[in-house]
Amino acid sequence: MAEKVITIANSITVGELADTLNLPVTTLVGELFKNGVAATINQRIDFETAQIIVDELDLDVEIQKKQQSEASSERSVHNLSDKAVERPPIVAVMGHVDHGKTSLLDSILDTKTVDGEAGGITQHISAYQTDRGDRKITLLDTPGHEAFAALRQHGATLTDVVVIVVAADDGVKPQTVEAIRFARSANAKMVVAINKIDKETANPQLVKTQLATEYDMNPEEWGGDTVMVEVSAKTGQGIDKLLDMVLLVADMEELKADIDTPAEGLVIESHMEQGRGSVVSLLVEHGELKPGQLMVAGTAYGKVRTLHDYKGRAIKIAGPSTPLTVTGFKELPQFGDNFTIAKTEKEARQLTEKKRQEREKDAASTNVTGADMLKMISQKHESQDFKVIVKADVQGSLTSVIDSLKLVDTGGEVTLRVIGSGVGNISENDIRLAADEKTVVYGFNVELPPAVKRLASRDKVQVRIFKIIYELLDDARSSMGDLLAPEVVEKEIGKLTIKGVFRTLKDSVIAGGEVTEGKVMANVIARVIRDKENIAEVEVTSVQRQQQEAKEVFEGEMCGLSLKTNKKLLIEEGDKLEFFTRELVSRSIS
Ligand code: GDP
Repeated sequence: MAEKVITIANSITVGELADTLNLPVTTLVGELFKNGVAATINQRIDFETAQIIVDELDLDVEIQKKQQSEASSERSVHNLSDKAVERPPIVAVMGHVDHGKTSLLDSILDTKTVDGEAGGITQHISAYQTDRGDRKITLLDTPGHEAFAALRQHGATLTDVVVIVVAADDGVKPQTVEAIRFARSANAKMVVAINKIDKETANPQLVKTQLATEYDMNPEEWGGDTVMVEVSAKTGQGIDKLLDMVLLVADMEELKADIDTPAEGLVIESHMEQGRGSVVSLLVEHGELKPGQLMVAGTAYGKVRTLHDYKGRAIKIAGPSTPLTVTGFKELPQFGDNFTIAKTEKEARQLTEKKRQEREKDAASTNVTGADMLKMISQKHESQDFKVIVKADVQGSLTSVIDSLKLVDTGGEVTLRVIGSGVGNISENDIRLAADEKTVVYGFNVELPPAVKRLASRDKVQVRIFKIIYELLDDARSSMGDLLAPEVVEKEIGKLTIKGVFRTLKDSVIAGGEVTEGKVMANVIARVIRDKENIAEVEVTSVQRQQQEAKEVFEGEMCGLSLKTNKKLLIEEGDKLEFFTRELVSRSIS
């Protein structure tokens, strides 16, 4: 149990947090600086950032989040009525990259889709449905990073079963562990699909041993309760059994939904399409969605114009656990928004306006978020990968672009990795390959067909096309420079020798001295030097000349100083103070 528990709301200013923690503001500002975040005393940091700071400073303090009473914008928990009916399970397929999630989904959908319609899935809506006997299973595509966070938010109610795909020839990897954590935090059941069992190098026993010994997931055959199925997405072996097991595990949950209630659910994707306007993928959780209903999601609303199932077939009604696309939203809702049905246009407008105001307030009130911090910390501690996909008109230029890119050097801090390359125009495949990673698709003397451009803008993939190789290389250099963590630069502004100490309190000192070099002013940091040793770092909160508050005091003048300290600090006559400021300077690659 931590010595101290403090409660904060969504965000807090640096100054308030320093007060609450009884620390000098400089300590917090310094810690933020060290992590590459330039924050001032009045800037607001979010709850997660505060938590990171407390952890990094190794304080024995527990921060709790204040429960917001106005949780109105959040989804209200749906209490099932006694008329609730059985619904298909919602299953997320997750696992390490290249372990076969996509292949597994393809294999399930290709072999199992009811009518084997030519062309199969026409639209990528991230969610599909398959039949097993007379039952349906809703499958969610492996969510990308953003999707992952939103899913986690909704996970507890949305995902019933997580299929963890582990390649039998590769074993448990970081994203496998991430998937296990996700399933556990979402309270979802797990079924492990040990994939690529057809390979000669497959070693399913090793996967089972890893899961059992390191993650407390014991296979049933060893007396445990984790369902593990050996499959091959390539040959189809074990796929039926996997689906049966998913249903069996889901049955233990008694999954139900209300039908006789206004439709509600989650936005899983949204984009604009020429001729159709907004095309939004939804997953219905309760109720039935029909054309003409007035849907509201986040800051968007509109009347349902058309409904299409995951294969792009027009449908008239969509019940619980159904993934579908709708048209009719006047603007695009965001991934992760909940949708509901409003009775009147006025109600829809009120709901969206309220949401808009909440979002604006949120955006305005937090300047530094935990995500910024984590990004900075990871930039600081790890070397970064800059991933690129390169397309060129002919093999010769492709080779020279790739070779030149590899020569862009950042002294080891950022590594350029070519994760895909080829000759020809930029294709949908290139965009898909990039979608999950923060990758740049470089084109050299090639084109970006309009359909691919749309896909790229929908998936927020950066495509950059050049005709001159040096311009391409300059762009790569500057992108890699952006990944370099900024440098904290200290700027000396002056020195002072202490001539007298007037008051020493628990966390502050009032003293006087003579400026021996440069100048001193308030809101800077001072190093306290005694016998050539740095004994503390303090914050100058105010400066006085002849008992008057002064902006700056220069070399040769006497002044009084109020210093804020970390702990009780006995400053002595003769101590030297060195004043400086800290600035964040972004670096570039020469
Ligand atoms: P994802 O990144 O998890 O979606 O993985 P993919 O489905 O893209 O598969 C990665 C690679 O593994 C591809 O080259 C697949 O052809 C291959 N692969 C997937 N499943 C199997 C399998 O069951 N057997 C074999 N031999 N290869 C597979």
